[in-house]
Amino acid sequence: MEITGVDAGVVTEVEREVVDLLVDLIKVDTSNPPGNETETARLMDAWFRARGLEGQIVGEPEHRKNFILRLDGTRPGPTLLLLAHMDVVPAEAESWSEPPFGGVIKDDHVWGRGAGDIKNLVAAHAVAVSRLAASGRDFAGSVIYAATADEEEGTDCGALWLVQKRPDLVRSDYLVNEGGGEFQVVRGERIYELNTGEKGTAQFRLVVHGEAGHASVPLRKGNAVVAAAQIVQALHDYRADVHMETLPADYVRLLVDDDELCRRLLTAETARAALAELHERDSKTARLIEPHYGLTFSPTIVHSSSEAINVFPERVVVTVDCRTLAGRSEDEARVEVDRALAGIDAPWELEFVGSVMGNASADPSPLSEAIDRVMERFVPGARTVPLHCVGFTDSNWFRAAFPDVVAYGFGPYIEEDSDITSDQFHNHDERIHVRDLTFQAVFAEEVVRALWRCGQRLRGGPPGRPAPQRRRGSSPAGQYGRPARIAAMHRATIAAWTATPGTGPHCPCGKPFQWLGNQCRASSPRIAATRTSKSGAPESGPMATSHHGMPRANRQTSSVASPAKKSTQPQRIGCLETV
Ligand SMILES: [Zn+2]
Repeated sequence: MEITGVDAGVVTEVEREVVDLLVDLIKVDTSNPPGNETETARLMDAWFRARGLEGQIVGEPEHRKNFILRLDGTRPGPTLLLLAHMDVVPAEAESWSEPPFGGVIKDDHVWGRGAGDIKNLVAAHAVAVSRLAASGRDFAGSVIYAATADEEEGTDCGALWLVQKRPDLVRSDYLVNEGGGEFQVVRGERIYELNTGEKGTAQFRLVVHGEAGHASVPLRKGNAVVAAAQIVQALHDYRADVHMETLPADYVRLLVDDDELCRRLLTAETARAALAELHERDSKTARLIEPHYGLTFSPTIVHSSSEAINVFPERVVVTVDCRTLAGRSEDEARVEVDRALAGIDAPWELEFVGSVMGNASADPSPLSEAIDRVMERFVPGARTVPLHCVGFTDSNWFRAAFPDVVAYGFGPYIEEDSDITSDQFHNHDERIHVRDLTFQAVFAEEVVRALWRCGQRLRGGPPGRPAPQRRRGSSPAGQYGRPARIAAMHRATIAAWTATPGTGPHCPCGKPFQWLGNQCRASSPRIAATRTSKSGAPESGPMATSHHGMPRANRQTSSVASPAKKSTQPQRIGCLETV
């Protein structure tokens, strides 16, 4: 599909630039581990310098650095961070049709590891920023370009390092990251997923105790292997309580063409039975809906303490990937495990091995408005649906560190739908259609321009122009009860930006804003009270390994749920103080 309303010459120009850059990025092997992202950080540094723009290479250790660049527009306004990670998962070359680090262009696609996850956005965001600079920086606010390390196998050196060690470089009002933007066509309508939040993890081990003994007598009691098998089956069969707080009704109605079934799918008491019915008819759609109902258990590893074939082991350890809805902690997981295993007649203990609380951003917001409008313009008839990612992305660290940042996952495709694209992530023959890559660059450039305009519209619009009607009827509750308050805050902030045009952002008190997240410190006693260290860096929580699509075990054992612990030492910050 063509990009509507964009001059063919511009498309050709963007395509050439973004394809060249992606090819160069793919040729640098940043398989994680070990990563070696510093080489791509240097590549980006040189690429921007050649265009007269200067960024910074920051991070540690030496071979795992990030590249950050800030570009200020000519008018005051919000700061938008364009985020993408440079590391990739390893590739087994023998399974590929083309060399995974060759950067081959074939059949209108760029082939190679990272072409879809997510060096495509590293390249597309760069081209967008460079074009904004070349256009005379004719936009309001600032854009921060961040190409980061260490997303696929850890979080020590990339996004988490940045929010902890260099918040001054990455603090922003809005953030666009990977995690959404794929589309599916349902009954002729193009539906794009806009990731407004993410589920959390509460991964755990169950240690099942048995009686050691000789395996020649099966009637002996206390075989821990048998008990573990019962536990695995019980967890697999268990259906946790259904919560509708993050599942948009519109999304279900779009996917399921049966009003009566929709109604039952959207009613907590009937949802599980309705889902089983849907699964019989259309398992693909059922799989899309299921994770949004709430907590999930997926047993993934079983280990026996004995290696001997003729011995009953003393214990068997069952490791379970558990995902929780945003805002819910491992306490909920513990309660549900107790319920699931109520009928098991064997001693077991639970220990958490990795918990990160899922979080979400306000929706709607000026950013979702901007995304909607840009998509409507370039892809007429496209519809975005706000949805929580059922995996995990680096957006989580930003929301945890800067509670009022509006962070979404959205790198839109235009040519190939999610049936084609989603299969390729972490798979062999990863590739991206040239038109999709080009569109991601065109989109990122335009969303920076649109953000300011949409902020103005959200507060009612300039005189004589009607306020927009939201096309997305119902949105999920977002961050567990916070959206309404945050939306009100956005309106207040935007009103303040526009109150004194041409003189920079001001507080209603008349003083210049001291930015923190997306608001003035003066207007945010809650934020002021939760700031902690002298450097302004947020406190850290467990270092969770992460991936936006796949269950993944944590490296560090921890029973701490929240990635951003709050200080108990309130610190008063007024708008007259400097940040
Ligand atoms: Zn990724």
